[in-house]
This record gives sequence, structure tokens and C-alpha cells, in this order.
Amino acid sequence: AKIRIYQLAKELEMSNEELLKILDDMGVAYKSHASTLEEDTAQAVKELIGEQRVAEAARRAEEARKAIPPRPPVVVIMGHVDHGKTSLLDYLRKSRIAEKEAGGITQHVGAFEVKTEGGTVVFIDTPGHEAFTTIRQRGAKVADIAVIVIAATEGVMPQTKEAIAHAKASGAKIIYAANKMDLPGADINRVYQDLMQMGIVPVAYGGDAEVLPISAKTGQGIPELLETILLIAELEDLRADPKAEAQGVILESRMDKQAGALVSLLVQQGTLRVGDYVVAGEHWGKIRAMSDADGKRRSEAGPGSAVQVLGFSELPVAGETFFWVPDQVAAKEITEERIEERRARESQAEAGRTRNLADLMRRMRESEQKEINLILRADTQGSLEAIQNILSKESGDEVKVNVLLAAVGAPSESDVLLASTAHGAILSFNVNPSGSVRKMAEQKGVPLQSFRVIYELIDEIRRMVKGQREPVF
Ligand code: GDP
Repeated sequence: AKIRIYQLAKELEMSNEELLKILDDMGVAYKSHASTLEEDTAQAVKELIGEQRVAEAARRAEEARKAIPPRPPVVVIMGHVDHGKTSLLDYLRKSRIAEKEAGGITQHVGAFEVKTEGGTVVFIDTPGHEAFTTIRQRGAKVADIAVIVIAATEGVMPQTKEAIAHAKASGAKIIYAANKMDLPGADINRVYQDLMQMGIVPVAYGGDAEVLPISAKTGQGIPELLETILLIAELEDLRADPKAEAQGVILESRMDKQAGALVSLLVQQGTLRVGDYVVAGEHWGKIRAMSDADGKRRSEAGPGSAVQVLGFSELPVAGETFFWVPDQVAAKEITEERIEERRARESQAEAGRTRNLADLMRRMRESEQKEINLILRADTQGSLEAIQNILSKESGDEVKVNVLLAAVGAPSESDVLLASTAHGAILSFNVNPSGSVRKMAEQKGVPLQSFRVIYELIDEIRRMVKGQREPVF
């Protein structure tokens, strides 16, 4: 039907003048705002304005996002034992003291900042992936980027593979650092080859894996490493709002005889201030004092800052997320609720645990998970390869068999953590997990099975795949 201009303006919630201007732009003739428009003209106007409004909303959203300032990337360093994680952290820590000239005091607060011309990088100050995985287990994502240190004198070793698996599972971007390049026995080609064997293709070979030669001893290549970290961070467009309510992750906590509970935390969003109340898991605190990695007192800490705080009466668990609450009443209520909820869960839990593969399969079916996450352990590289070879034929379009980690040696506690976070199973061939690993798997509800015959292991996987394919009635 025809419509008068002023009616259409009202419908579109705009003034007559605004609409007349649009009609002029569209080249539509009219006498006054009381003139009528043909139905298809009115329709075209509506569509145009709809489009403009969508574009405007998108522009505003982008503007709002851009108004949130960038935050520094948070980096974790992982790798095989003795490949140089501690040395790299030491070098980075020292270089930042040197910058400050004064051989100032440093304090361990779980993370430290390195400032470069290109920007600031925050390094998690605990080498190894145990701490990292514990943090992830609790659902927090702490590191944006993982640097996997690989000694170029040795190449990829079992824990390198574990570290890569953990980093991948966390969704962090990965950079490989070929370390110990100052030693005569160092050969970056070995590192390239080993990575290629794992299906990771270095940039030097046309792939997208950054593999940088460094020496944690001489400092060679470390500026380039920092540059690459900042480049990746820029692509990730990391942002955090300092005006938001503070939240972040507990990095470490310990009881000090004199000071009481010393808690290190990383602020990820917002600004934490002295006097604030925070809740972390089942514990809360009122921040009485904060100090940073330079041992300096702080009255506030923004996104990307790691600080040690005083004010918790009990120790929150590392890896727990914390968040700001308005007052003590809220803090108490939330923590008490959480404690009750946990107790209720615990009394029900016994029955609900995943105890074996059949249970895991049922659970996956229920959640319509079309991926089976596996950790494979075997006595030799040869048997691992044999298993993976057969496996590659089992993985189909409908159900994907995802091998998170295939490694020589007995299943470890770290495997259990990985499987538990990824809702996966651990299958081992000719190697037996220790009692403590079995117990941990039991506690976390991670299926863990050992096999002596390769085909029995394969059959088990086939059963899992088949179980996923078949619809349940
Ligand atoms: P982590 O177990 O991975 O933390 O390894 P460390 O940092 O403790 O290093 C293990 C050993 O390798 C130590 O003796 C270090 O001094 C040595 N190391 C680490 N990085 C380098 C390096 O770049 N060059 C040389 N020559 N030695 C290194």
C-alpha cells in the first residue's frame, strides 16, 4: 500500500527532515512530507535504512572494541627437562633488571614483565607445564602464547611432545625456540626435522611454525624471540578493559609464618585495588597490600600485571580464577554457596564418575562429541608408529580419532591432567602406569587401560569409533 512520508518517518523512528534528505539522495520526487510514496519506493527506503543501521551498529561495536586498550601478551615457557627453560627465564629476568640499571630487588610474584621498544611481554615465572596444566584444569586460560624450548643439541624429546600437546590443547599460539645455539653440537636442522616428523612445518620449509634459533646463555636470538611474540600478539589483537571489574587467575599461594597468606595473581581484566574484595574458588580476601615483581608497593594493578597480595585468610588454589565482589557480604555468600555446592556434588559424585571406556563413550555420545581424544603410550617408538599407522585408517569423517600425545614410556600424571582436561582416554601398550598415576586417573575419572597385544588396543579403539558412529535409540 501507499504510505505518506511522515507516516513512514514515524514507522522508521526518524524525523521528517531526515527522511526527506534520504529521499533526495535517492532521487525520489515529492512535494512535502505529506506526499505519498509508492509501495516499492517505501520498501526500498526501508531496506536502505535497515542496511545503514546495521552498518552503523557494526561501526559502533568496532569502535567500542577499539576503545578497549591493548594488553600485553602472557607467555609460558615449556619444554623437555634441561633444554633451557629456567635459563631462558633467568636471562629474560636479568635483562629486565639491567634495563633498570639499579641491581634492584626482585620478588617472585609468579610472573614478570619484559619491556621492549615494541611493547611489553608478561612471562609466567614457573617453568614446566605442570603448573600451567593445573591452571588450565580449573578452566582458566592464562597463556596466550607458549614458547616451546628445544635444545638444538638434542632435538625433540618426550617431554617436548608433551609440552606441545598441552600447549595445543590450551589453544595458545606456539613458538619454537631452538636453544643452545652457542654450542658446537647445536644443529637447527635437527630441530626442523624432528618437528616435521610430528607434522609441524617450520617457516623455513614453507610452513607456518615459527622456529627461532636462540641461546639462553649468550642471549643470541632473544630479541628476535621477543619481537615474534609481540608480532603474534598484535595479530591476536589482545585487549582488556582496565575499567572493568577486576578478574584474573591465582598463580601461586603459600603460607608465610610472619605475613600470613601470600597470594600471587595475574590480573586479566579490570583493575585490582587495595581495599577491594575478591573471591577465588571457595576463598575470599580483602586486599590489604599489593607488591610487584620489583618488590614495589602498589595501590592498583591493571590488566597484565602480576602482583603478590596480602589479605586472604586461607589459601586459594593456584589456577583458580578470582573476581571482584562489592563487599564482604557478597564475598561470604558466594564462597559459602560454593562450599555447599561442592559438598552436594561430592556426595552424588561417586556414582557418576567415568570409570571405563564404555562410560566415556556413552558420555561422548550424549554430548554428541564426534571426536575421540587419545593419549597413546608404548614401550618403543616402533610400536607407537605401528599403532598410529593402523589408527590413521580408523579415523573417519564422522568420528575423528584425535591423538593428543603419542609417547614412549609409562603414562604419567601429566598425561592424566591432559586427558582429564580434554575428556580423553589413555591407552598404553606394554608399559604400565604407576600406582599413583592409576589412582589419579581414578580420581579424575580418566579412562586408563593397558594392553599387551597391539590388536586388542586397536580393537578397543575400533569399538570406540563404532560406538560413536552408531546412533543411540
Ligand atoms: P630446564 O630444565 O629446561 O629449566 O633447563 P636449564 O635452564 O636448567 O638448563 C639446563 C642446562 O643447560 C644448564 O646447565 C644450563 O646452564 C644449560 N643451558 C641452558 N641454555 C643454554 C644455552 O643456551 N647454551 C648453553 N651453552 N647452555 C645452556
